[in-house]
Amino acid sequence: MTSIPPGATIGILGSGQLGRMLGVAAAEMGYRIHVFAPEHGPANDVASAFTPGGYDDLAALAAFGDAVDVVTYEFENIDPAAVAHLASHAPVSPAGRSLEVSRYRLAEKALVRDLGGRTAPYRAVDDLASLEVALGEIGAPAILKTTLFGYDGKGQARIETAHDAAAAWDTIGAPKRLGDASPAILEGRVDFAHEFSLILCRGVDGATAIWDAPDNRHAAGILKTSTLPAPPEVAAQADAAKPLARAVAEALGHVGVLTLEFFATADGPVFNEMAPRVHNSGHWTIEGAETSQFENHIRAICGLPLGPTTLTAAQVEMENLIGDDAARWAELFAEPGAHVHLYGKHEARPGRKMGHVTRLRR
Ligand code: AMP
Repeated sequence: MTSIPPGATIGILGSGQLGRMLGVAAAEMGYRIHVFAPEHGPANDVASAFTPGGYDDLAALAAFGDAVDVVTYEFENIDPAAVAHLASHAPVSPAGRSLEVSRYRLAEKALVRDLGGRTAPYRAVDDLASLEVALGEIGAPAILKTTLFGYDGKGQARIETAHDAAAAWDTIGAPKRLGDASPAILEGRVDFAHEFSLILCRGVDGATAIWDAPDNRHAAGILKTSTLPAPPEVAAQADAAKPLARAVAEALGHVGVLTLEFFATADGPVFNEMAPRVHNSGHWTIEGAETSQFENHIRAICGLPLGPTTLTAAQVEMENLIGDDAARWAELFAEPGAHVHLYGKHEARPGRKMGHVTRLRR
């Protein structure tokens, strides 16, 4: 592929904060941003054009594709058929296979297993009867999750004993089978001390750059902090998982940032899930790495060489500002050395990601 030069327009599917931070990086590099989404969001503040439309509106997607030089996306819950239609109007990066695999929990786990990685024991679940069979095979405790459209711990129910099956099925909304896809997955509960993510970027030439793995802490299923360096035992597991992450990117023919989330267990790394995009656990790279995940994603999809991922400080911590946390903005802006990012969202609902703050220690 010939590279897409500065001055060109990058289309982004989705108007959230990930699109906003991609847009800021792209603007610094001389590109323009055109957002496609059903409604305005944080990315619109940094975009020069906007096409409103649903992700299944083929005519609107075609017009959008005709107006941009390359398309990327900031979330994976898009119908691959709609993206295939869009791809006949503009190059889409990462390509369809990355989206198909990473949006469907059963497919991403199967791919990782095929490549020799470990996952929690799991079974596909189609209805309450198959949930009961799966629970008999895997045993409690376990977690029932929707296979599609889950994020931030939504669409999940914890199962402590076999008696919880019906309640768990109701909690995730008793989803119906979708074509060939099973609507739910039952996973054995993994006993872990830490969670970490591997964020990598793969260029069109197959070169990959991987950032150091942050130690990720969650509260109520939502990322709260990402800290580097991770403790030595976690960093060792992250190093051990890097060949797998590269193999996944290779198998998908992925171009752009790809994030894999793992549990660090007593028996080594266990893969949990992946996202074919920039990730919340990589926000620290804006100030904490030589090249941010956002800049390297733009470099990759435009066919440019990737930048180095080296840490810029001895210690880095990213803290998410969730719900009312953002009301602390005056205090945070007064804190020396705190890098405050606010996403411009008007309403602070509980659990809503409003911004983040990154602190470096040199
Ligand atoms: P997910 O949406 O798969 O990332 O799940 C959200 C969070 O729930 C994870 O970050 C973990 O903290 C927890 N979790 C998910 N799956 C499992 C599992 N199989 N065993 C233990 N904890 C889990």
